[in-house]
Amino acid sequence: MTKSNYPSVLLIYTGGTIGMIENPETGALEAFNFDRLLENVPELKRFNYHICSYQFSSPIDSSDMEPSLWAKLVKIITDNYDKFDGFVILHGTDTMAYTASALSFMLENLSKPVILTGSQLPIGMIRTDGKENMITAIEIAAAKHPDGTPIVPEVCIFFENQLLRGNRTTKINAENFNAFRSYNYPTLATAGIHIKYEYDRIRKPNPTLPLKPHYVYDTNVIVLTLFPGIQENLIRNLLQTPGLRAVVLKTYGSGNAPQKPWFIKALKEAVERGIVIVNISQCPTGMVEMERYETGLHLLDAGVISGYDSTVESILTKLMFILGHGKTTEEIRHLMNIPLAGEITKE
Ligand code: ASP
Repeated sequence: MTKSNYPSVLLIYTGGTIGMIENPETGALEAFNFDRLLENVPELKRFNYHICSYQFSSPIDSSDMEPSLWAKLVKIITDNYDKFDGFVILHGTDTMAYTASALSFMLENLSKPVILTGSQLPIGMIRTDGKENMITAIEIAAAKHPDGTPIVPEVCIFFENQLLRGNRTTKINAENFNAFRSYNYPTLATAGIHIKYEYDRIRKPNPTLPLKPHYVYDTNVIVLTLFPGIQENLIRNLLQTPGLRAVVLKTYGSGNAPQKPWFIKALKEAVERGIVIVNISQCPTGMVEMERYETGLHLLDAGVISGYDSTVESILTKLMFILGHGKTTEEIRHLMNIPLAGEITKE
């Protein structure tokens, strides 16, 4: 095989712990240059892959991630789509699940792997998890079926030893190497001695449809977590916020909320003003079923829609994505009800 026939992967470095180094004066971790990051992974040279890299001009801690940077990632992938077999995004872990979710919607008809990974310890440290994560993510991004089609043509997070659908994933641990979970969709692959792919769980896009990149979003959305004792004036003021277009309501259990008349009335009036209110559960596992209890039925009557078994990261970015497209309230409500990129479980 000549070098030009090798699988090719574009490694996009956005920042995060994986590429950080300790500032000797403050002791805090700060991003450092990508070339130095690669110096710490000589193993990459042993791959029979053609690996190119792109680095954000100022690498960031992912707490500073913004939708404009999601659009930038969409542009980088789109501009390089035909040149590479797959893409690996090195990203801070804190907001990785938001970026993975957003990209799954913004890269419509994606038929190549986009694998996000990072680490809990910087790559220069002896016990780093960054090397394994990066090397395996590259291998997954380059993996193909015997007919030459990619094995994982979707946006995923690879971390520790699990490949998870990006828009199903949540960061659940600030210390352990095993930091991500997908509670409502099973693992797509497990990396041990071999990488064991669960082929039937992986999306099968139509490769004849061209990639359709989206760059628009609307961030007039908010997440409201219910708790016993939540105050009427606060809810009312929140729902009256000028410009507010959608609320992710984090309810109890299978989608239940207080039955107080003022609460239901405030939601109903907001829905009548065109605000989209989507119900997801505070429980990470399971599905919203507003029909199950009377406490959920009131929400349904008020016009609240189900977020099914969505993660908060996924529902929020899906709303930003759909709202950005200037749809009518009815169209938005319809699109929230169907999976766009495998983000909800719906027959
Ligand atoms: N604060 C870091 C970030 O998200 C944490 C990490 O990368 O693990 O950028």
